[in-house]
Amino acid sequence: MEEASLPSISEELFKPLENWFIEAGEKPYRFRQLMDWYFKRPEVRSFDELANFPKALKEKLNENFAFLSLSLEDVNSAPDGSKKQTLILRDGFVTETVTMPMEGYSTVCLSTQVGCPVGCRFCFSGRHGLKRNLTAGEMADSLRCSLPASGAESLNLVIMGMGEPFYNYEALKAFLNICKGGFGIGSRRVTVSTVGVLPGIERFAQDFPQMNLAVSLHAPNEELRRKLIPRAPSEIKELLPSLKKYFAATKRLVTFEYAMIRDVNDSVMEAKELCELLRGFDCKVNLIPLNDVPGGEFKPSAKESLERFVNYLRERDMNVTVRRSLGGTVGGACGQLADKRNN
Ligand code: SAH
Ligand code: SF4
Repeated sequence: MEEASLPSISEELFKPLENWFIEAGEKPYRFRQLMDWYFKRPEVRSFDELANFPKALKEKLNENFAFLSLSLEDVNSAPDGSKKQTLILRDGFVTETVTMPMEGYSTVCLSTQVGCPVGCRFCFSGRHGLKRNLTAGEMADSLRCSLPASGAESLNLVIMGMGEPFYNYEALKAFLNICKGGFGIGSRRVTVSTVGVLPGIERFAQDFPQMNLAVSLHAPNEELRRKLIPRAPSEIKELLPSLKKYFAATKRLVTFEYAMIRDVNDSVMEAKELCELLRGFDCKVNLIPLNDVPGGEFKPSAKESLERFVNYLRERDMNVTVRRSLGGTVGGACGQLADKRNN
């Protein structure tokens, strides 16, 4: 069989692989050893590198499985140390991950879909709609290809790449379930960002009450939000009560993401409206300097507007941070590189 048509070991989260070991009469401990190689030695990318496996078994595995469901095509590094990995899926679509070094740890940003059906007007990922969902195995393989030399021990995982994670909930859930037991990433180190898919928020609270939730708000009122996110899955007036329920159930502070767009949502008037909207709700606000994407209709806020906005919120005791602008020189926001290749 052609390598490309063989199942990868992470397919259906290792079930066919485990069954194959049983059916082929191989020792069960070999399967466990392979899992150790997979989860603990991300630099290993082929069966031939499995030092403690007999040659005959490596050959049999090569005949029946592909080691990974994707291949690392390219790594782009920026002067700030962030890296963007371009990963080619087996049907030719492209996904990407970004790894950002922080003090004492790294953050890896993963995608959940190829493209995105929501089509926010400032986002590259949604420009050409949804191509397809990623599988749980593809998410695991893309994380594996992006693990820094330090491994997963000092890693934060953010699901903020291409796609809307809660529109691919089952695969996301299966993937998140192996993050802790497999890769060893503690739940509190994982953040999932959604544009406001209410059933997803409810399920996430039940399934992963210790993980973190970020919600893309981008505007303090429905009218402006609709302009920026024409296919927003929920209205602010339903989203906020759903997030208050989430907080009551999990006691985890929700982070609102707010991309700062020049002369669109960055005036003191919007800062005031945002304060009023979130008054009384214990939460965080993360202002994201817009990633200026070539040909895009929006521009990042001027430095002074950003400062004015932050100060206005801080003076009113809001918990506000400004995202360090990372990755700009390696291809802008998640989605940008892959978008060029998927269309
Ligand atoms: N679909 C999810 C998660 C992926 S996007 C969501 O929208 O939340 C992750 C974050 O990056 C979102 O807050 C998104 O609005 C933001 N983003 C998208 N394009 C951007 C750009 N050009 N500049 C800055 N932030 C952007
Ligand atoms: Fe999709 Fe999120 Fe991009 Fe909007 S910002 S198009 S929801 S990936």
